[in-house]
Amino acid sequence: MAGFDGVDFLRLDALLSDEEKLARDSVREFVSREFLPRIQEFVRQDGAFPMDLVPQLAELGLFGANLHGYGCAGMNNVAYGLVMQELERGDSGLRSFASVQGGLVMYPIRTYGSDEQKDRWLPELAAGRAIGCFGLTEPDFGSHAGGMLCRAVRHGDGWLLNGTKRWITNGSVADVALVWARTDAGIRGFLVETDRKGFEARDMKGKFSLRASITSELFLQDVELPEANRLPGAEGLKAPLSCLTQARYGIAWGAIGAAMACYDEVVRYTRDRMVQGGPLAGKQLTQEKLVFMLSEITKAQLLALRVAQLKDQGELHHSMVSLAKRNNVDIALSVARLARDLLGANGIVDDYQAMRHMLNLETVRTYEGTHDVHTLILGKEITGLSAL
Ligand SMILES: Cc1cc2nc3c(=O)[nH]c(=O)nc-3n(C[C@H](O)[C@H](O)[C@H](O)COP(=O)(O)OP(=O)(O)OC[C@H]3O[C@@H](n4cnc5c(N)ncnc54)[C@H](O)[C@@H]3O)c2cc1C
Repeated sequence: MAGFDGVDFLRLDALLSDEEKLARDSVREFVSREFLPRIQEFVRQDGAFPMDLVPQLAELGLFGANLHGYGCAGMNNVAYGLVMQELERGDSGLRSFASVQGGLVMYPIRTYGSDEQKDRWLPELAAGRAIGCFGLTEPDFGSHAGGMLCRAVRHGDGWLLNGTKRWITNGSVADVALVWARTDAGIRGFLVETDRKGFEARDMKGKFSLRASITSELFLQDVELPEANRLPGAEGLKAPLSCLTQARYGIAWGAIGAAMACYDEVVRYTRDRMVQGGPLAGKQLTQEKLVFMLSEITKAQLLALRVAQLKDQGELHHSMVSLAKRNNVDIALSVARLARDLLGANGIVDDYQAMRHMLNLETVRTYEGTHDVHTLILGKEITGLSAL
């Protein structure tokens, strides 16, 4: 694991600037040195994240990395994508931590927040001194978040929030929860300090997937909030959906990292593993699997790179992100399954990475718009007819 050199069959490195390569290589090195030696310990704990690494993640500029000002790194979207790839090469839980903090909490504050909210939260979140979570999903409303039951009603000059959010990454370690709730005027976003009376977060246990990540349920019972805690620019469901586009973009890159980790591991393994008097890597069936993996990783890299260029040019449509997220997670899952298969019995233990990535990618396929929801988004784009 320590000697990971990436996967670059089409010499895409030549298309990257020195800054982009530096950002990627710093995170690659950090993941190999600080994170991967401890992943087994955290996966075995069922819903724990190495919180002591948060200051180092902040130091690397990984929180809100593609945002400008307020202590954010201001990376372009190629560099941002590459660092997401490297984080997920470690574990989807590690990339999720950065995606939620940056794409789902800092991005909406930066885009829809008041100056006071930006000044208060963004420098703290960028430095990792404050942790955020994003509460959109409810027990009965996931893909169709617009049906949410969580309500915010007027209460004097402020608001009273009631409802339940489920499957919320970092809920129990968050200092601030961005909670989306229905008001008489439609869906609005509220910044809820998690020490407010009536707010409770309980961790969800028993996950087979994303075990090195904290997932919580949020309970809001008569939580009082001042008007100053409402995001003034966020009106309707399009506001949380715009945040999801940011996070999905990161996932399109991150999934490549998980696939690269599995491919790298299994190429090494099959070279060393002897079957019937020769290396497993020398068998035709093995080579066919390895070729599939390399081809799909390479195509996913090209897709992500083009989407990054379009994002930097301000020409990225959300359906393009759907195409990239849907494809890259799908191929990463196929790569992980094939790698697990080639590892044989060794593939089912956590001394090897493939099965951990495979199980993580089942979540990644489901969250931030399921595979099928992205199919329907693209179907609408092609036909003009919504099947959602
Ligand atoms: C580990 C983890 C972390 C998460 N973190 C967060 C977080 O931080 N914040 C947050 O708000 N949420 C989070 N989520 C929730 C996630 O976004 C939802 O699980 C996701 O949106 C899917 O919703 P659902 O689970 O209710 O599935 P459902 O919406 O019930 O979907 C079930 C199945 O039905 C299919 N389906 C849905 N609608 C249609 C349709 N119209 N036509 C055909 N098929 C359809 C789906 O594709 C899927 O196969 C997380 C989830 C997990 C597992």
